[in-house]
Amino acid sequence: MPTSSSRKLVILDRDGVINLDSDAFIKSPDEWVAIPGSLEAIARLNQAGYRVAVASNQSGIGRGLFDMATLNAMHAKMHRQAAAVGGRIDAVFFCPHTAQDHCDCRKPKPGMLKMIAERFEIDPADTPVVGDSLRDLQAGATLGFPTHLVRTGKGEKTLAAGGLPEGTKIHDDLRGFALDFLANDPA
Ligand SMILES: [Mg+2]
Ligand SMILES: [Zn+2]
Repeated sequence: MPTSSSRKLVILDRDGVINLDSDAFIKSPDEWVAIPGSLEAIARLNQAGYRVAVASNQSGIGRGLFDMATLNAMHAKMHRQAAAVGGRIDAVFFCPHTAQDHCDCRKPKPGMLKMIAERFEIDPADTPVVGDSLRDLQAGATLGFPTHLVRTGKGEKTLAAGGLPEGTKIHDDLRGFALDFLANDPA
């Protein structure tokens, strides 16, 4: 059983990083459309020994825009399409709450990332967090994860607004992240 390699993990936001985002929420499997190259990037990370976990705010549940069965169907599509290109997403963590719920898991709160760190027994310092919104990066920075912004989804807007956590690296998209990150992979 591999030890060090099993601790290699990348944490991704979902909407705007893996799939196209919409201001009107992604509410159905039909609306879930992968960003070109993103699933191949996940496969590339897997091939380099990285597991991939998703941490996603899904307040559409709390708002009643879609239900759990629909969210599961979206994720089944994501897993199926990833598998079709040789990629694997090991875990999907999501926050179903709205801001009014004051939960600990809705990003920028660090609760989901904390759960992922515990579940996978990883060191945040070695685990990149990739997102397109400031709150993704803030959640990561709070716990000491290296932060990476992609320009897809809300990324351009996030970049223009500024105030990114110190040391945040910027990439065109998830494919660009995977190429840059693996080029500097110490393993
Ligand atoms: Mg996003
Ligand atoms: Zn929550």
